[in-house]
Formats: sequence, C-alpha cells, structure tokens
Amino acid sequence: MAHRNGSSWPHRWFVSDEPHRFGSGWISGTIGAVLGLAAAGTAVCLAWPEMATMAALRAHWPDWVRPAALAAAAVAFGLGVVSGCLRRRKTLAVIALGSALATFALSALPPREAGTDPAPRGLAIDAFVLNLLAYSAVFVPLERLWPRRADQPTFRPEWWTDFAWFVASAVFVQLTTFLTLAPGQMLAAVTPLALASLPFVLQLALVVVVADVLQYWIHRTCHRVPLLWRFHEVHHSATTMDWLAGSRLHVVDALLTRGLVYAAIALLGFDLRVVAAYLVLVAAQATFVHANVGWRLGWLEPFAVTPRFHHWHHAESPIDVNFAIHLPWLDRLFGTWHLPHATWPERYGLADGRPGPRGFWRQLLLLRR
Ligand SMILES: [Zn+2]
Ligand SMILES: [Zn+2]
Repeated sequence: MAHRNGSSWPHRWFVSDEPHRFGSGWISGTIGAVLGLAAAGTAVCLAWPEMATMAALRAHWPDWVRPAALAAAAVAFGLGVVSGCLRRRKTLAVIALGSALATFALSALPPREAGTDPAPRGLAIDAFVLNLLAYSAVFVPLERLWPRRADQPTFRPEWWTDFAWFVASAVFVQLTTFLTLAPGQMLAAVTPLALASLPFVLQLALVVVVADVLQYWIHRTCHRVPLLWRFHEVHHSATTMDWLAGSRLHVVDALLTRGLVYAAIALLGFDLRVVAAYLVLVAAQATFVHANVGWRLGWLEPFAVTPRFHHWHHAESPIDVNFAIHLPWLDRLFGTWHLPHATWPERYGLADGRPGPRGFWRQLLLLRR
C-alpha cells in the first residue's frame, strides 16, 4: 500500500521486497533485534534501577539477570552478523549489533544498589523488556505461521507508530496504573460490598461479565460522543491489523475505560488476586483479537471474542458493530452483533477510507492533517 507522509520515514528503513523465509536473514535479524533491545533495556535497568524500573518487580530480580543480559547481547551480536550477511536491507542487523554493543558498554558501569522504597517513580524499562520478549515471542511466530493475510509483512506500514504506543504504554505504566486505580481505591475503602468471599473462579467469571458490560457501553459511548470519538478514533485509524495495532490506544481513551471498569470492580469488593488475574487475561485477549491470525475458531465464536469478531469492529464498513472485548453475546443482546459466516473485512480503518491522524505524536496530540 502506498504510504506517503511524514510519519513513515522510519518505516522505509524496514521496508523490503525480500522474503521472511529461513535463509533470508529476516528470522536472524528479527530475533537479534528483539534480543538486543531486551538486553540493552535490561542493562539500563541495572545501571539506573531507581529511575528505570518498578519497585514491585525489582524485589524479585533473580541473580542471573546480568549474565542473562550479556548472553542475550552476545547471541544478538551473532545473529546481527548473520542477518547482515544474508539480507540486503541491513536495518535489523544494525539494531541487533548496535544494541548488543550498547549492552556491553553499559555493563561496564559499576552496578548500583536499588533502594527498597516501594513508591513508584520514574519509568518502567523493565515492563518494556518483559512485554517485548513475551509478546513478540508469541505473536510474531503465530502471525508468520497462520496469517490471515500472508502478504502482510511483520514490519508493515505504520508498524513504527504502533510500536511507539507499545513502548510508551509499557514505559509509563506506573503513572497510568496510579491514575487508573486512584478512583477505584477510594471506593474500595468505603464499599460495604465484599464479593471476595466467593470462590476464585466464580469471582473471575463475574469480573469478566461486569467489566465487559461496562466496557461495552463506555466503548459504544466513545463511538457516539464526538469529544470521546476524537480520542477513540486513534485506535480505529489503523489500516492494517496485527498484534501491535492493538497498542494504538490513546492514553485518555485507556484511562477513561480502565478507570471506570476498575471503579466498578473495586465497588463490588472483589479479591485483589482475582483483579490481577483479570488484568493478565484482558491484556492477552486484547492483543490476540487484533492479531493477523487467520484461525477460524468457529466453536469459540459464540462464547468469546476472537480475532475475526474484533477485526469486524475495525472494518471500514459496517461501522459501530462488535463493541465487546470478551463476550460476543453482549453485542447480540444489545443489537450490534455482526459476524458474517467465515468472512473477514476487506479493508480496515475509519469510514470512507478517511485518513486519521498519522504518527505517534500527531495521534497523541489529536492533530488532524
Ligand atoms: Zn471502537
Ligand atoms: Zn481494537
């Protein structure tokens, strides 16, 4: 797809007509770049722990973090050399080699003792490292092995914009978590309700239903109210779908939805372990439903939101369908269900092919062209 605008310049470093297959230097380059960035991120965490990491995670760092980062950097360096030899486009090789060298340089700094102050402050580079490793290890192979669109490259147009959202949401997670939880925690302190006495599995099922009913109506309101749509249309401006496209979510959109959903969960007095389990579930499902994975999953479609169901939510036409994130029968109940048999949308994005704001900064500041 032609893509000519100011935000696409980093993408040009990745675009290539070379294949993804084994022997093309793509697999070595991609694994090398991911490992190298994770190693460099870990080295930053070790060099400046108080500024770059979450206190809650810091307490659980195993002793092997430093040697593991150095080993990952060594592997990234080797894979970078392999990719650089095999592939004409050298961007992945340069990232792998550069981040490996940065890791070696940072590891020469004296290690610093992190304080035990649990107050969250600063950035969460450790959250970025964990998300990068976990999500790319699961979703990049899934999308290459079982693609919905086989001709869609991993580094597709606009992937850079979505990667910026992915990085920002991890790095600033301490601030956004604080803002998300603040209203709910006030309610939790005064609520007379206490569903925490119910069995774990029952509580989790209830949290999913409560969260999705609320989320359904907040989401539908965001499509209806022009001011809220300004924020939410950022999410719908993606014209290609994959696991990374789900990261494109304006921070105001995310805080509004998550803050209200958490407030309801807190008001009902659920066990905090159930809330934590739900957060893992929603993060995994929200990423999966955007993925460029062509699994049909017909047996699951009546009960759980699948990629095909949520891809229709992102279709250029029809609009305003499939608002649920977990339970597709909510859309049946409220009259917005749309899932034509075994077909996928042809085109994604805003209605009538209208271009939305392009690039991370323009999207964050809601600047239209
Ligand atoms: Zn939407
Ligand atoms: Zn979406």
